Amino acid sequence: MVTELAPQPPTADERRRSRRRSYPRPIETALPPERRDALRAELLAETPRWYVPAVHMLVPSLCGVAMMAIALSLIRDLTPWQLLTVPIVYVLANANEWTVHRIALHRRHPLAPVLYDQHTPKHHMLYITDDMAIRDRREYRLVLIPAYGLFLIFVTAIAITAVIWWLGFRNVACLYAATAIGYAVSYEWLHLSYHLPHDHPVGRSRLIRGLRRHHAIHHDPRLMQRWNLNVTVPLWDVVMRTVAEYPPPAQCDRE
Ligand SMILES: [Zn+2]
Ligand SMILES: [Zn+2]
Repeated sequence: MVTELAPQPPTADERRRSRRRSYPRPIETALPPERRDALRAELLAETPRWYVPAVHMLVPSLCGVAMMAIALSLIRDLTPWQLLTVPIVYVLANANEWTVHRIALHRRHPLAPVLYDQHTPKHHMLYITDDMAIRDRREYRLVLIPAYGLFLIFVTAIAITAVIWWLGFRNVACLYAATAIGYAVSYEWLHLSYHLPHDHPVGRSRLIRGLRRHHAIHHDPRLMQRWNLNVTVPLWDVVMRTVAEYPPPAQCDRE
């Protein structure tokens, strides 16, 4: 099972040292409950006073929804082939999510070390397969993408939209913007829903329960580097054959 205890869980010092290494050794064992409680207390104590969980959850996402609405309102004389933009962009975004998760969230990539620092030593050490739920709303900070990160994603999407628009494919540009930005917003809301308490109304839907299970298996420290890397819909996990059932397949223990 997942809850193997680590004899030497990373302390704050070890995590600092790990941040300085280019490619730190992966953390492959779950912390014992008392060490996770201590880590939770430490991370909550680091929360800035000005942090408001509801603002973090709503403001960037609603800005994204507003941008989607603007993009869709600019569409004129839509043709059926232009609508193909939506599934194509969705699949590309899904593949991108899988790739970034694998190469930058579980290894410290020199171009964006903050992604690893937030994800592996914090998010993954705190939440494990059998204990995924947040206990305090300030933990939104440990689950959601930082607001500046989401805005960076939006700015990148708008820049690509501008190029497509400039090339003369205006409806394609609008559909691209709506799909790419909608994908990022859905990532945030879905990931948060997996980490809400189990009795939360959002988690009652069958769809959310299924997706949450897929992500919870990814939170097994032995599996997190290679398996169930999609956080939204596990489409690219199926294509790349990185879907792990639970208990983990034998090859996970060998690798
Ligand atoms: Zn998670
Ligand atoms: Zn991960």
